[in-house]
Amino acid sequence: MIDVTDLLDPLNDAQRQAVTAPSQAMLVLAGAGSGKTRVLVHRIVWQIQVQGVSPHGILAVTFTNKAAREMRGRIEELLQRPTHNLWIGTFHGLAHRLLRRHARQAKLPETFQVMDSADQLRVIKRILQALNLDEAKWPPKQVQWFINAQKDEGVRARHMPETGDLYMRQMIAIYRAYEELCDRSGLVDFAELLLRAHELLRDNPDVLSFYQERFQQVHVDEFQDTNTIQYAWLRLLTQDKNNLFVVGDDDQSIYGWRGARIENIYSFQKHFPGHEVIKLEQNYRSTGNILKAANQVIAHNEGRLGKELWTEAGEGEPISLYAAFNEQDEAFFVIERIRAWIKEGGARADTAILYRSNAQSRQFEERLVQAGIPYRVYGGLRFFERAEIKNALAYLRLIANRDDDVSFERVVNTPTRGIGAKTVDDLRVIARDRGTSLWRAARIMLEHGMLSARAGNALAGFMQLVDRMAAETEGMELFEQVKRTVEKSGLIEFYQNSKGEQGEEKVENLEELVNAARLFDPAIDNEDNLGPLELFLAHAALEAGEMQGEDFDDCVQLMTLHSAKGLEFKVVFMVGMEEGLFPSLQSVEDPKRLEEERRLCYVGMTRAMQTLYMTYAESRRLYGRENYPRPSRFLREIPAEYLQEVRLRAQVSRPAAATPLKTAASASLSVSQYKLGQRVSHAKFGEGVILQLEGQGAQERAQINFKAAGVKWLMLAYAGLAAL
Ligand code: ATP
Ligand code: MG
Repeated sequence: MIDVTDLLDPLNDAQRQAVTAPSQAMLVLAGAGSGKTRVLVHRIVWQIQVQGVSPHGILAVTFTNKAAREMRGRIEELLQRPTHNLWIGTFHGLAHRLLRRHARQAKLPETFQVMDSADQLRVIKRILQALNLDEAKWPPKQVQWFINAQKDEGVRARHMPETGDLYMRQMIAIYRAYEELCDRSGLVDFAELLLRAHELLRDNPDVLSFYQERFQQVHVDEFQDTNTIQYAWLRLLTQDKNNLFVVGDDDQSIYGWRGARIENIYSFQKHFPGHEVIKLEQNYRSTGNILKAANQVIAHNEGRLGKELWTEAGEGEPISLYAAFNEQDEAFFVIERIRAWIKEGGARADTAILYRSNAQSRQFEERLVQAGIPYRVYGGLRFFERAEIKNALAYLRLIANRDDDVSFERVVNTPTRGIGAKTVDDLRVIARDRGTSLWRAARIMLEHGMLSARAGNALAGFMQLVDRMAAETEGMELFEQVKRTVEKSGLIEFYQNSKGEQGEEKVENLEELVNAARLFDPAIDNEDNLGPLELFLAHAALEAGEMQGEDFDDCVQLMTLHSAKGLEFKVVFMVGMEEGLFPSLQSVEDPKRLEEERRLCYVGMTRAMQTLYMTYAESRRLYGRENYPRPSRFLREIPAEYLQEVRLRAQVSRPAAATPLKTAASASLSVSQYKLGQRVSHAKFGEGVILQLEGQGAQERAQINFKAAGVKWLMLAYAGLAAL
């Protein structure tokens, strides 16, 4: 049992006020690193400990699974007891839970399956085919975007107004066909989870009032990134009780492209007239230089709610800026710095490499592998998105739900068993005509002898295999179920026989899946006693591949800027600071999107506690082409006083085409009188050669290899070197 003073002491006055305020609608609006998440955690503990609210009566929504886990961990640490029946999760995770509990009222089959965005795209492609629409004219990704955008706004195909616009009419028809297919197959995409959960509450007064009564307090972190339907969902749950507590930062709204509505902050103020607003202004995360630089960058945006952060921490080091010759040199530099950090006793997990796009991670991964430094990539091609894993999951899904068409199509001929595209096309026609699933269509065709003997046998063999696996694995422990399925499906053998290392890697990944199942603990989130397989499958779709079996505690962290939201690291590398990459090419023409990119830059910079490196490459291969990008405009927005340029060019020569950096920083950089490779002499250490130079002005340092005394770093202003 924690003492109340222990709970309130680590808070400043404004934070304490937010934590202890009586139950009411509240908005904590504050910049990065000001303790919003800490306030949320302490408020939850305060309510349980002091107000006597049962953990059962508390709902907390966070943005990622990782954040949810961390939050639960913090709460349990403070309370010194487990909190199973306290609901913490992402919007998607919580919506999924509601739908599982109330599948019938949500008009879903009990066995409904969640599909990720790659599955969704496959379904859309199938529909375009069925409607005889040309993918060139109706790009599936665009259709996907359209459908998700409608759902995020709470709009179904039937709600869309009649229109004379041919394009819109067609889009609506595709949307409708998509909804029908998903309903028939029991498939739910990410946006559907939210929309369905909202409809469930809206249309079932008994369900709604049950949860309204249950949740005495509703807490939301990263409120600036909620979309319309998420906000509507929150309002339903809290409308009469005024018990919605949200924390957020308008400057960190980075999901506008996915339908997030920063306006929700204004709507909140309108919808909850009696609410209280608390602002936090002290930053506890970053050093002065980093914070001031970030403040300056974000100041270039217009229409901000406006707040300035200060810190008691010292100025710290300036931000280090490194102009790499190319992307390999960039990776080389970053890994060298990480190596040095580890050598000095720093923890790997305290360093993060943040990039704008997933494709950038490869260079860093290769170097890390070479250097033998363990690392972990968040996002990217996530574990559960790999083809071999999806195939195994598809078998598991079919075992759970034979009507899952996406899974059926995925593995009906994987491993190859002689079921051709023609047979699958025939199945689709029957399924469509009869409004049924592919599995049932296959049954019908087999019963009526509508297939050639060869195709019929192959198909019957496949269906028997699935039925047999289902019968055999029933009642088994989850990991055994997964293990058996992976083997019996023939996938292991299939990949073993495929040539090269890739096959081997795939087999290893399948083994890893079994391992993941072994480590999966359905008890954590399972008040509802769902089957472990169902939970595992939902987890695989919802979770960002966050559970390969190894111990990930001490690894360098690699992730996109988007996924770094809410996190903090002692040492941060923001790489690829180039026009066309960051800000992205698509955003530079559009002032709104450019502002969102700038907020992303603010998010990135404010992840750093002690040391921030920003790097850009003077030449970069992107999409198979050599580019010579200009340094990012965001670098120019950082005043020179907060930056120092790092030079470390012993191994590479600069090409003539390299663009010099024209930032505010370079304007004020004094050109060092020393050069790499230059011979110098020192009063005490004798003669030596300059290996590296970094810093500027009074901060300039050189690494020198002295003949007699070995390698040393010296501050040039004090070293009293003589050039030889
Ligand atoms: P973000 O906007 O990036 O999500 P945040 O506002 O949620 O940031 P937190 O992550 O809660 O900020 O806090 C930032 C850091 O400051 C954390 O390491 C936290 O433990 C620490 N911190 C917060 N408040 C205090 C305090 N009053 N005293 C000491 N440390 C604090
Ligand atoms: Mg936070």
